[in-house]
Amino acid sequence: MSVHGGQLTQTDGSAGDRPEWGVPVPIDLESLNADLEDGRATVDIGISYPENLEPAHRRKVELETVIEGVLEARRIFGVVGLQLAVVSVRTGRVDPELLAVHAEAPGSELPGGRYANLYVERQKRPSRLSSTALSVFESVIGSGPEHDRRIHLVVLEDVFISFHDQLDERTWQLKTIATNALSFPGYSHRDTIPRHLRGVITLTNLARARSWKTVAHELGHKLINASHEYRDVDPQHEVYADGGLLLYGDGTDIPSGPEGRFHRERLHRSPFIYRREASGAKLWNPDYLDGGGYYDRIYEGLTLDFDPV
Ligand SMILES: [Zn+2]
Repeated sequence: MSVHGGQLTQTDGSAGDRPEWGVPVPIDLESLNADLEDGRATVDIGISYPENLEPAHRRKVELETVIEGVLEARRIFGVVGLQLAVVSVRTGRVDPELLAVHAEAPGSELPGGRYANLYVERQKRPSRLSSTALSVFESVIGSGPEHDRRIHLVVLEDVFISFHDQLDERTWQLKTIATNALSFPGYSHRDTIPRHLRGVITLTNLARARSWKTVAHELGHKLINASHEYRDVDPQHEVYADGGLLLYGDGTDIPSGPEGRFHRERLHRSPFIYRREASGAKLWNPDYLDGGGYYDRIYEGLTLDFDPV
C-alpha cells in the first residue's frame, strides 16, 4: 500500500498546490494498514493533530485516542464491507487564534424544518462555513491530488455550532454549543465547502461516555450522508437512543433496505470510496451529481421522504 507522506508532486487542479501541513508523526502506517485488501471498498483517512493544544484540552483528545477511534470505526464499517486506510498522521503548529472556531458563518443559521423536512431545507439553504473555520481547514488540510476524496480528521480545541430551540409557535431561541465532534456532511453543507476540504471532520473531545463510537459516528454522517436517524426515527438534531450508528446510544448498526433508511446502500455510494485495482490504481465511486445533498441523484432509489418535525 502506498502511503502518502512526503512532497506533493501533482495537482488535482481544484486549488493551489502546496506542501502538506506539519510533519509526519512517527507512526508505522504500513503495519497500521497491514490488513487492508486490494479490490475492497476503501476510504482513506488523514489525521491532523496540532502540537500547540492547551494541556488541559490535550487530555480530552489524545492522538492515541483518535487512532483507537479509527480502529473501532474500522471494526464497525468492516461488518458492512468497508475498510479504512490511515494514509497520513501529521502534527504541527496551528495559529492559536484558530484553535477554537465557530463552524458556521454568522447569520447563516436559521430555524429549520418549518415547511419542508431537514434535508429539503438544507438543499435550499445549506450551512456555510465561517471564515475562521475555512482558514483553519485551509492551513491544516491544504490541498493535494486526492484531498477531495479523503476524510480529514482535524483535532481542534473547540468547534461551536448554533441552533434554534423553538419556544412557541413563532419564537426561537438561538443556542450555541461546543461540539465533541462535527462531520460537516453533504446533507447539511452541500457543495459550499471547497472541494479539497469537503472531507473534513473535527474532533474536539473524545473523553466522554461512548467516545469509543465518536469517530465511527461522524464517519457515518459523512459517508452515509444522513443525520441522526434510524429505521422509524426521522432525522433530528439530537437523538439519544440505542440501535443505529447514527444515533447517540450504544448502537453501531448500519441497516439496509427502505426499513433501514438505505444506510448501507448509501454508504457504498459514497464518492469517498475507492477500490484498488491490481495495477495499483484507485477506482473511485462516481462523484456527487447535484452538489452532494441527501437527495443527490447518486442516491436514486435510496432516499426517503418524510414530513417536517
Ligand atoms: Zn451525530
